[in-house]
Amino acid sequence: MEDSRKTDGRLRTRQDADYIFHELTRSICPQCKKVIDAQVIIRDNKVYMRKRCPDHGWFEGIISSDAKMYVDSIGFNKPGTIPLDFTTQVDQGCPLDCGLCPEHKQHICLALIEVNTGCNLDCPICFADAGSGFSLTLEQVEGMLDRYVDTEGNPEVVQFSGGEPTIHPGLPAMIQAAMDRGIGQVMVNTNGIRLARDDRFLETMAKLNPVIYFQFDGLRRETYRTIRGEDLLETKLLALERLDRVGLDAVLVAAIEHDVNLDEVGAILEFGLEHPAVRGVVLQPVTHVGRHIPFDPLHRVTIPDVIHGIVKQTNGRFLLEDFVPVPCCFPTCQVNSYVYVDEDQVTPLPRLLKIEEYLDYITNVSLPKVPDAAQIREALEGLWSASAVPGTDKTAGQFQCACGPGLDLPFGIDHLNKHIFQIAIKDFLDAYTFNVKQVMKCCVAVLVPDGRSIPFCAYNSVGYREQVREELTRQQKAGQS
Ligand code: SF4
Ligand code: SF4
Ligand code: SF4
Repeated sequence: MEDSRKTDGRLRTRQDADYIFHELTRSICPQCKKVIDAQVIIRDNKVYMRKRCPDHGWFEGIISSDAKMYVDSIGFNKPGTIPLDFTTQVDQGCPLDCGLCPEHKQHICLALIEVNTGCNLDCPICFADAGSGFSLTLEQVEGMLDRYVDTEGNPEVVQFSGGEPTIHPGLPAMIQAAMDRGIGQVMVNTNGIRLARDDRFLETMAKLNPVIYFQFDGLRRETYRTIRGEDLLETKLLALERLDRVGLDAVLVAAIEHDVNLDEVGAILEFGLEHPAVRGVVLQPVTHVGRHIPFDPLHRVTIPDVIHGIVKQTNGRFLLEDFVPVPCCFPTCQVNSYVYVDEDQVTPLPRLLKIEEYLDYITNVSLPKVPDAAQIREALEGLWSASAVPGTDKTAGQFQCACGPGLDLPFGIDHLNKHIFQIAIKDFLDAYTFNVKQVMKCCVAVLVPDGRSIPFCAYNSVGYREQVREELTRQQKAGQS
């Protein structure tokens, strides 16, 4: 629509905006971290966040390269579960009161304990900005685990991370402490170097049997040189072979960047499907917090880029419809899929069951009229959750329950454990994409020795990481002097 009129001697023409105003939310200034209003807009079938800091001006970043996928995901949003206890009070407003404060909308499905800041690599991208800092004591970790039990009752998953947790001499005792408290599943987030090189450490891990959340960015040497600063391909392959030898399960975790390895997502997935130690892959667009290579916020990788990449690069094995938003967090944060793998045959669960009939809570208010619909929904909620860990009896049982109507699975849980494969795509928030709407319903939190649980993206983007690191480093130095 156009309309022209002469005003104050000038011809002014009224025009339509080149975008759709989708919503107003709150975010932070990428420069000073001040909390500011943010608009979510849709332009050329892509979704952007634009915002203005009174001191630093306008900023814009892409949050989804497929507006339809983004908007369609909104129905996959289930009511949160309130934790047993909160640790902070509502004071300055989200995201400055973490946490969890009583305004938080979801409990913690997956807790992270960053046991140290040191690392045996020096990656050009490192959201944790690994380097000198602190190393937690067993007593500190036990206190954090106790608080996790207090707030959750029966916590589902704890993941030891860092820095690089495998270089912390106390890691085995920390894993044992988590198991002693009955925490459902323990994971270790690692670059794999120590697993590749240290026989005794590998044996110790095999006895404790955590799931290994294994950094694996691709199959090209150049990818590792760019993302990790050195060629690690052989080390990665050796570590995986050794994990298989001792019977430890791994989930491959890849950081995905444009012009580096977005064209490898299909190969990473195919590699994982074939490797005997691998039970799943997690594909994560590089998070531009901490250390990262230069990037254009208008040209970030987003979840739809990864999905489209998989579909294009796997010769028809996967379809767009195989990927379904995760309703336990905010549904634009993560999509999952599950496949049953039998020899060369790969059957995605969404081909057997219309997942949206169970997990789209807004469009489909009532459940399908099939026997056991409530149990099927419950099983799917377990699978489409940040607490779902592939290779575990719980996940295998949920898969069996969910796919019962579509696939005759005359197998025991042990068989399913080795034949069910998880695909997860997660897009963590950075200062350009930070959205309070998402962190308020975040179900992934970093535990802090003072008892707080800080939603992961708030921890990384708002300044909590820097504050906690400074405080723990200061305490450690004071203890040593
Ligand atoms: S992210 Fe959650 S815990 Fe943190 S301030 Fe917001 S509502 Fe509170
Ligand atoms: S990304 Fe991981 S492996 Fe690389 S430097 Fe950081 S903590 Fe170490
Ligand atoms: S960690 Fe970030 S991306 Fe993941 S659920 Fe929380 S807010 Fe969403």
